[in-house]
Amino acid sequence: MEKNPLIIQHLTSGDFRNAPFEKVILPLGSLESHGDHLPFGTDSLTAYLLSLEVARRVPKTAVLPPLQYGMSEAYREFSFTLSLRPETETAIIGDILESLYREGINKVFILNGHDGNIASIEMAARTVKAAHPEMKILSLDAWWNTLKELLPPGFFEVWNGLGHGGEGELSIGLALFPDLCEPGQARGIVPRLPPYVDVKWMVSELTDCGATGDPTKATREKGVIIKETLVNAIVGILTALDESGWDYRSPEVKGNQNREMR
Ligand SMILES: [Zn+2]
Repeated sequence: MEKNPLIIQHLTSGDFRNAPFEKVILPLGSLESHGDHLPFGTDSLTAYLLSLEVARRVPKTAVLPPLQYGMSEAYREFSFTLSLRPETETAIIGDILESLYREGINKVFILNGHDGNIASIEMAARTVKAAHPEMKILSLDAWWNTLKELLPPGFFEVWNGLGHGGEGELSIGLALFPDLCEPGQARGIVPRLPPYVDVKWMVSELTDCGATGDPTKATREKGVIIKETLVNAIVGILTALDESGWDYRSPEVKGNQNREMR
């Protein structure tokens, strides 16, 4: 195995002493069905591989081991679902953040790959932030929703690319881990959900195959654009914050962000 200085599991105490990182990215995933066309580990693989691409481009940044399990109760009628209870996941994320604080790492970017984790991220991060206000904690809770702001209208063919194992998720899978994807098996259903409100569904209420959206419209080309768009956006945010000293009151942060986002 080749040592990658961005991957914290690969580093020795000596490595860290000689080249300390000051920011970390925490990728969060899940272990659950994504239909017959994407692997059970899709969410952690996506979050982890995106995190590595970001860390490559932002100084003094390293990537934590991804959390390979998430809160997946809504997916449990489809195999292979191993789920953490929300309180377990909140405790794990909270313990990781507390440990980082103790290690002197005060800047954390949480890159989430799974919708069921969002509430736990919020609870853990708010609690740790209140305990240690000097910590800077950011999270990208739902990259699949953020794409609406970052990509031109009409980029996706169906349902804004959304869906569990949908057009967007299979596309980015084809870009990041093509050998684990089976686009020939792609199938999904676009559910009829009401607007404005957040429906607390079980996935079995939305689909009979474990996937939603239309993954038959996924392509590797779309995935490469999605990947680069997300990585550019996150790199832009972290770079602007580094330039501003992570002072959220500085007008420079807003200016730089806008420049990157355009
Ligand atoms: Zn997923």
